[in-house]
Amino acid sequence: MNKNIDNKPSLNQIVLDPSCMDDYDPNAMSVAQARQFIQQFLSPIAETDTVATMQALGRVLAADIISPSNVPNHNNSAMDGYAFKFSEGIKVAKIIGTAYAGKAFAGVVNASECVKIMTGAVIPTGADTVVMQERIAIKSNCITLLEVPIKGANVRMAGEDMKIGQIVLAKGHVLQPADLGLLASLGTGQVSVFRKLKVAFFSTGDELVSVGKNLADGQIYDSNRYTIFGMLSRLGVEISDCGVVPDNPELLEKTLLKAASENDVVITSGGVSVGEADYMKALLAKHGQVLFWKINMKPGRPLAYGKISSYGTVGLHDKTAHYFGLPGNPVSAMVTFYQFVREALICLMGSAAKPLPMFKVVCTEAIKKATGRTEFQRGILFEEEGSWKVKPLPNQGSGVLSSMSLANCFIVLDDATGNCDAGKVVSVQLLEGII
Ligand code: AMP
Ligand code: MG
Repeated sequence: MNKNIDNKPSLNQIVLDPSCMDDYDPNAMSVAQARQFIQQFLSPIAETDTVATMQALGRVLAADIISPSNVPNHNNSAMDGYAFKFSEGIKVAKIIGTAYAGKAFAGVVNASECVKIMTGAVIPTGADTVVMQERIAIKSNCITLLEVPIKGANVRMAGEDMKIGQIVLAKGHVLQPADLGLLASLGTGQVSVFRKLKVAFFSTGDELVSVGKNLADGQIYDSNRYTIFGMLSRLGVEISDCGVVPDNPELLEKTLLKAASENDVVITSGGVSVGEADYMKALLAKHGQVLFWKINMKPGRPLAYGKISSYGTVGLHDKTAHYFGLPGNPVSAMVTFYQFVREALICLMGSAAKPLPMFKVVCTEAIKKATGRTEFQRGILFEEEGSWKVKPLPNQGSGVLSSMSLANCFIVLDDATGNCDAGKVVSVQLLEGII
């Protein structure tokens, strides 16, 4: 069998013969293993766009940003005061002019002379130190230094923020508000970024009804499309909402192939758990290579990952898209998105996904938990007597979406952790700001 250059089996090989991988049990994957697995099949998009700096928030840099100049480009004053030439024991200096921000003093400052200077004004030739205006007395056009600052005091040096030729932002960086200002401070009006990742999603299930229609007996509103839409929007991808698709093989196939032909990634929710998976599983096997896993985690046990192709389908572009099949339960869909899909999409967008930060805090209530799986309990971080603590929400059911809405963090309990007494230190991941 042919293997990849780095000797890892291809997706196809794993689908055809799961035993080609040591240590691979699709029915007992750890969270870390599943993450690593997905990671090896991701290659970032290569196409780029040029966008105006003002439009670049959240976009991923496609090239390093190298500073074309020093910032600031001149030594300048950090204070309103008087610029003078430092010498040991200096007491008095004669005022010979004024330097404004944006209007430099043109002359030279010699020993025992000074220039009144405003914050941001260029330090005049000859001067090297600024004394704050509060630390001097003025008499007959001369200043007396009440307190002599050290040499170089209150001077911001050229290049102190960024030096000419320095990489100030690296390729793959996701642009934040501060970066937009940084780019502007370099005079950079447009940047090269990776094109937006195109992501399509749809919900599957006969029981699902879209908002705006009445519910018949046994039907429920489709909420996953809304949570998935929200999470994708925060990531800044190009979103394509393909609606709700009933458990009907023809409709599922049509929607799946169209989505794959027009997007980089297709995400579905529902229909990947055992017993129900029949249609989706068969379709995914027909049109791609998809791995179905049971992950040792709660909530969110079933997860499917792979690639699907629209090749050979009449009327569609030939294209291969990454595929994520999320569980249908609303909390499970969100947890698996945060723990697996988020990181994969950031990678495909051209950035390096950093692990979500974890903090350790005291949990004020006891938690029941079995060892052998990772749990992502919904929790509330709160402040008590000056320190932050966490408590789990009472209803941890995987269908209880209000627990996600009320929570501000996940309490992450790893495989080795069992029951926890109240007062134990636990790890938490903040939900606000995840994406
Ligand atoms: P499934 O993974 O399709 O077996 O679905 C598991 C549970 O999640 C069932 O109770 C479904 O009714 C529910 N469910 C599936 N999809 C959605 C959805 N889009 N919105 C709300 N609940 C859903
Ligand atoms: Mg279903």
